[in-house]
Amino acid sequence: MSKKLDGKQLAREIERRLHSEIEVGSKIVGRAPGLAVIRVGNDPASQVYVANKEKACLRIGVKSFGSHLPENSSIEDVQKKIQELNNNNHVDGILLQLPLPNGLNEALILKCIDPNKDVDGLHTLNLGKLLKGEPGLRSCTPAGVMALLARNQIPIKGKRAVVIGRSILVGKPMALMLQHANATVSVAHSQTNELASLTRQAELLIVAAGKPQMIGKEHVRENAVVVDVGIHRVPVDPLLGNSSTYKLCGDVRANELDDIASAITPVPGGVGPMTVSMLLVNTVTSWQQHCGLSITLGDFLP
Ligand code: NAD
Repeated sequence: MSKKLDGKQLAREIERRLHSEIEVGSKIVGRAPGLAVIRVGNDPASQVYVANKEKACLRIGVKSFGSHLPENSSIEDVQKKIQELNNNNHVDGILLQLPLPNGLNEALILKCIDPNKDVDGLHTLNLGKLLKGEPGLRSCTPAGVMALLARNQIPIKGKRAVVIGRSILVGKPMALMLQHANATVSVAHSQTNELASLTRQAELLIVAAGKPQMIGKEHVRENAVVVDVGIHRVPVDPLLGNSSTYKLCGDVRANELDDIASAITPVPGGVGPMTVSMLLVNTVTSWQQHCGLSITLGDFLP
């Protein structure tokens, strides 16, 4: 039976720690950390993600400066909002919820975020710092994976790791973080030939392909640790008589791996909650930096 790497539990522990850091620091500097999540348009999944982030802020004492811009916003409208937040001394973190409506250039807009407030770790400067191994704000999802592996004492040094996916959001920063932790890393992508023969070499397999249930027992070697980053809302077969019409699943057919993998992240409850936690870690770190407090959360920033 493979061990479940419980992101929900760890996220709760991290939130408790952040809450007490905020309580102590706010008394010294006279203000709480501030996070602005910008949502443009009406993507229903984004609406849920933003609401979850704002609820998490409320739980730990981060002040939300959310703003929702209409679907037909121009690039100038979004840039103007970002400038306003860049200049607001009570805002320590700015996150642009992706995807943007068609026609808005994501790269151009992300560039406008002050790198010191880039709590999603997607600004070129912060990605460059990760590449060079310099301290900086780190991309939340891969940083969350690293924290989950560390908490469960999963060895990384010297291990053979395969990352499926090469996006800027997940795959690329994930591969860099594992390399910094001294794994030997291969990156697979949509043009990789003979995927299964590569993934079967992995002692640590990170799956971020964005394809529901693509990875199964034919891809996984005995005792591998499998991290499923994917998250998908898929329709439930009505013949199963289920009351709900949708369920969540990952990129991995976890039910096939129980006797093969030594450990696996569940979906939901694995990587998802860790992504939100690392956003909060980045926000509190950024606040500590802006207010001249000691940085106390460096152990979470790979
Ligand atoms: P993306 O679509 O930008 O990138 C997917 C990557 O997978 C690409 O690099 C592509 O080359 C690769 N890929 C696609 N098909 C492949 C195949 N058949 N074989 C090998 N590689 C293949 O997606 P993303 O933004 O990196 O996200 C990946 C998944 O992770 C999505 O399901 C997304 O919803 C999920 N996600 C979850 C969280 C979370 O908090 N749990 C956060 C971010 C992303």
